[in-house]
Amino acid sequence: MRASRFFISTLKEAPSDAEIVSHKLMMRAGMIKRLGSGIYTYMPLGLRVIRKVEGIIREEMNNAGAMELLMPMVQPAELWQETGRWDKMGPELLRLKDRHGRDFALQPTSEEVITDVVRTEVKSYRQLPLNFYHIQTKFRDERRPRFGLMRGREFTMKDAYSFDRDVEGMQKSYETMFDAYVRIFNRFGLKFRAVAADNGAIGGTGSHEFHVIASTGEDALVYCPQSDYAANMEAAEALPLVAQRGAATQPLTKVSTPNMTKCEQVAKLLGIDLAQTVKSIALTVEKDDNGRQVKENWLLLLRGDHELNEVKVSKVPGLKDFRFASEAEIQDAYGTVPGYLGPINTKQPVNIVADRTVANMADFVCGANEAEYHLTGANWGRDVAEPVVADLRNVVEGDASPDGKGVLAIERGIEVGHVFQLGTAYSAAMNCVYLDEKGQPAPMQMGCYGIGVTRILGAAIEQNFDDKGIVWPDAIAPFELVLCPMGYDRSDLVKAETDRLYAELQAAGVDVIVDDRGLRPGAMFADWELVGVPHRVVIGERGLKEGNLEYQGRRDAEATAVPAADMVGFIK
Ligand code: ATP
Ligand code: MG
Ligand code: MG
Ligand code: MG
Repeated sequence: MRASRFFISTLKEAPSDAEIVSHKLMMRAGMIKRLGSGIYTYMPLGLRVIRKVEGIIREEMNNAGAMELLMPMVQPAELWQETGRWDKMGPELLRLKDRHGRDFALQPTSEEVITDVVRTEVKSYRQLPLNFYHIQTKFRDERRPRFGLMRGREFTMKDAYSFDRDVEGMQKSYETMFDAYVRIFNRFGLKFRAVAADNGAIGGTGSHEFHVIASTGEDALVYCPQSDYAANMEAAEALPLVAQRGAATQPLTKVSTPNMTKCEQVAKLLGIDLAQTVKSIALTVEKDDNGRQVKENWLLLLRGDHELNEVKVSKVPGLKDFRFASEAEIQDAYGTVPGYLGPINTKQPVNIVADRTVANMADFVCGANEAEYHLTGANWGRDVAEPVVADLRNVVEGDASPDGKGVLAIERGIEVGHVFQLGTAYSAAMNCVYLDEKGQPAPMQMGCYGIGVTRILGAAIEQNFDDKGIVWPDAIAPFELVLCPMGYDRSDLVKAETDRLYAELQAAGVDVIVDDRGLRPGAMFADWELVGVPHRVVIGERGLKEGNLEYQGRRDAEATAVPAADMVGFIK
C-alpha cells in the first residue's frame, strides 16, 4: 500500500466526548468516525484491523469444526416470541415494523434464527453434532453507549451456536470452543484471562467470559495465582449462593462464609435470622443514566407469618422506604423473567427499598434456603436496569481461594468473549428436536459462543498504548510495517531503495505501507506512532551511503542500523 493512495486523517486532539484512551486514540488516528450515539463508520484504517481480527477468528473457528453461514440482521418477531425474548428483552432489543405493520427485531444475537435453521434442516442424531457461526452486525440499544467501539449500539460480533444430542456432547462442543478461544486470543497477541461467569438470566449450566486485561476495564476479575481458579466478580460473589441453587439444603449463613454477602449483611442489620426466617433474599440495584446507583432493592421471601413491621428498619443506614409489596406488584416488577416467581404464592413477599449509595454496583445476587423455593436465572427486566457485573467487593484481595489452594487476587478486564452452555433453553421453547436411534424425539443440547469483534479494537488499545499513540500487536495491526523514506521525491537513491525494499517485502508477504506523501520526518513519524504500526524502517541518504537502513520497533527507545541487503530477512 502507498500512503499517497490510502486515506489517512489524523487529529492532534480527540473530540471532547471521548473519555477513555482507546476511544481518544481511535478518533485521533482516524480509525472510526461517529455517525450517531454508539454508531460508527469504520474508516479504512480501522476496517483493516477489524478484517485481521475477523480473519484470525474465522481460521480458528473453521479449524475447530464450526461452519460459517450468514444470518439476517432483521429478524421476524414471531421467532423472538417463540422463546419469549420479544417480551423479556426490553428496550435493548431494537424493534421495527415493515410496510405491512409486521414486527421485526434487529438482532442482538441469533439464537432464535439458528435454532429455526436447525429445527427445519436437521432431523436425525446422525447429523449431530453441528456448530454454525457468523460474523455479523449486531444492534443493541444500550442504555449508555460509550467508549467508542467498546460499547456501541451497532457493533460486530462473531456468534457461534453448537447443537448436540446430549449433555456430554454439548460439554465437548463447549470445550472445543473454549480451546479455540484460547488460541484466538493468543494469536491476537493480547494478555487475557478466561473466568467463570454466572449464567444469569440466560439460564443453563456453564459459562465463561474471556477478558482482555486492562486497568481501565469495567469488570473486576478474581483469580488465584496459586491455582487455576478464576471468576468474574459476580460469579465469585455469588459462589456460595450459586452452589446452593437447586439443591438448597443448607442454611444460607453457613455456606456463605468466609465472604459474607451483602444480603447477609442487611439481614443482620435488620435483625433477621436468615436460616430461621428468610426463605430467600435478593438484591438488585437501580442506576441512573450516568451509571450511578440510585437504589438498592432487597426482596425477602419469609417463612410463615412474620411481622416485619417489628423489624428495626432504622438500623440499615440510608434505608428510606419499607413496605409490604403485593404479589401482583412483585409479579409486575420481577415477573417478566420466567421461573422467577413460580413457587412463592404461599409466602408473603416483602420489598425493601433503600437509597443507600454504595461505592460499587451490583446487578443481582440471589439465594435460597430451601429446595424449590430458590430464585434461579432471576434478574431485572432489562428495561429496569442495565445488567452490570456485580462488584460488591465483598471478595477482596487476600481472601482464601474457594479451592483452598491459595489466596485471591483481583485485576480488571474488558469482556471480549463469552461462551455459554445453553442446554435445552432454546431448543425446548422452539421444538428443535432430533430423532434418536429408536426414532424418539429429543430436544437438542445447545451452546452459544460470542466474540466482540469491534470491541477487541478498543480492548487491544487499552492494553497497548503510550503517550505517542497506539501500539498494535503485530497480528492485528492495520499495517505491520511502515517504510519512511527521507526525501522520496527528492533523492533518486532513496526512492530506488525504497521501491526495491517495498517490492521485496510485499513479495515476502509482509503487510507493508510506504509513506510516499512527502511529509517532513517529524510529522511522518508522529502519524505512524499515533496509528500504532508496530515496525518502522527509515530509508535515508546518510545511512544508505554506509549501506544501512534504520529499523525501530514501536516500543524501542532507539533505532537499530541494519544493512540494507539484510532488511527483508531481519523483518521476517
Ligand atoms: P456487556 O457485559 O459488556 O454488556 P454482554 O455480556 O451483554 O456484554 P454478550 O451478550 O455476552 O455481551 O455478547 C458477546 C460479546 O459481544 C461480549 O463478550 C462483548 O465482547 C461483545 N459486546 C456485547 N455488547 C457489546 C456492545 N454494546 N458493543 C460492543 N461489543 C459488545
Ligand atoms: Mg450487555
Ligand atoms: Mg457481560
Ligand atoms: Mg457476556
